Amino acid sequence: MTSTIAQNLAAVERRIADAAARVGRDAGEVRLLPVSKTKPPADILEARAAGYRRFGENKAQEAHAKWLELAETDIEWAVIGHLQTNKAKLVAEFATEFQALSSLKLAAELDKRLQAAGRRLQVLVQVNSSDEPQKFGLPSAEVLTFTRKIAAFDSLDVRGLMTLALFTDDHDRIRACFEVMQQTQRELRDADGGGWDELSMGMSGDFELAIEHGATCVRVGQAIFGSRLDPNTYWPAG
Ligand SMILES: *Cc1c(COP(=O)(O)O)cnc(C)c1O
Repeated sequence: MTSTIAQNLAAVERRIADAAARVGRDAGEVRLLPVSKTKPPADILEARAAGYRRFGENKAQEAHAKWLELAETDIEWAVIGHLQTNKAKLVAEFATEFQALSSLKLAAELDKRLQAAGRRLQVLVQVNSSDEPQKFGLPSAEVLTFTRKIAAFDSLDVRGLMTLALFTDDHDRIRACFEVMQQTQRELRDADGGGWDELSMGMSGDFELAIEHGATCVRVGQAIFGSRLDPNTYWPAG
């Protein structure tokens, strides 16, 4: 019998394919990152059985605990939420990817810890595309300068940009966030003659819109694993 999680994954995959087709994109360009925060290892193993190997978690400690618990598997971890500098050591130990870099101090600390551990980390720079003062991420205008500064950190493999769009039902306002991301990506590509391919944006409520605006990674939790006790209405704390 197919599990609910596997069925949900298949449904999300279909919606990704449809959204990509609407704008003439190849669905293969869009990576689905299942977000397993607050969910137990058993759920993660169901998604692993359905073919997914990398999972998104927004809290370093919770991710680290799951990494330990699932150490016998080949599962990889993407830390997708804001990180305090004092958690850099923890993340350097186990994460494959970190999607929410926006501080030089954290970049330096991660690099130091990664060097010590003999590891590297795939990194996305978080952009505050909605311009909400309480939200993490760099203003678009500061991204280019920031990327020049973190280029010196050898163990950070910087691949692109990440954002959380405004949490609203108003599609025009969500679109405006995604357009800021596309514009920021264009500026980086103009400066570097290419690159900056990763654009992580879109969650359960807005991943189709994000794909229509060039997302290469969508971070989807609730549409796969079911609703959480910490609904996104608590945001923008993440
Ligand atoms: C929780 C979370 C998501 C997924 O949100 P859903 O509504 O469950 O799809 C995506 N990105 C980040 C940074 C998150 O913390």
